[in-house]
Amino acid sequence: MRLDRFFSDMGVLSRTECKRAVRAGDVSVNGRTAQKSDTPVDEYNDVICYKGEHIKYERFTYIMLNKPAGYISATDDKRKKTVLDLLEPRLAARGLFPCGRLDIDTTGLLILTNDGQIAHALLSPKHHADKVYRFECDAPLPSDSPERVREGLVLDDGYECLSADLFLDDDRTGGEITLREGKFHQIKRMVSALGAGVTYLERIEFAGVKLDSSLERGEYRALTEQELALLEKYRI
Ligand code: URA
Repeated sequence: MRLDRFFSDMGVLSRTECKRAVRAGDVSVNGRTAQKSDTPVDEYNDVICYKGEHIKYERFTYIMLNKPAGYISATDDKRKKTVLDLLEPRLAARGLFPCGRLDIDTTGLLILTNDGQIAHALLSPKHHADKVYRFECDAPLPSDSPERVREGLVLDDGYECLSADLFLDDDRTGGEITLREGKFHQIKRMVSALGAGVTYLERIEFAGVKLDSSLERGEYRALTEQELALLEKYRI
């Protein structure tokens, strides 16, 4: 791969910026100052530095974001803020997109990646990747709700949900639901079918990856190798 391509793929420098950085002596390859921006490099084995910082090659990027309310799960929008607006420019330039959608008012775990194959596998209805949500609602749900959810609730449009797991809090105005599918507004419509309205919704787990409780809303970090291994199980 060419040096300038390496830097643009990593979202560090555009090709023109790379040319300038090389001219300024800010780029080194294996400890030697680079002379040309189109010089070939081995992205996996060469030690490539910009202003002394070692830039490691990553074919794909996988981010865990604790989504705040008020952001849409899209890559760009003319009027509303998107989850990509929360990322530093270097990451935003890597072509990341949200793996699935959370409503604008839903908070919690969102995985962002530029690995289209794994995103497709995780979202495929064939794979039934579990999604766990914590919710609160404006009235107590009927006590037989867990059984009804397990048997498959019928939504307002006649859609019969796949069997899901519901654990209710003692006062039945909140709990956790595990879904194995992801229909539009599904939790809100399920809770509505049970006779209440959702007042709070947070995703706390996706495909075995749990939301890191040390992340504040709006914060993010790279997935760990262990978390990535959980997702890899879904790769086709
Ligand atoms: N179900 C919903 O109703 N909204 C979400 O954002 C996710 C699941």
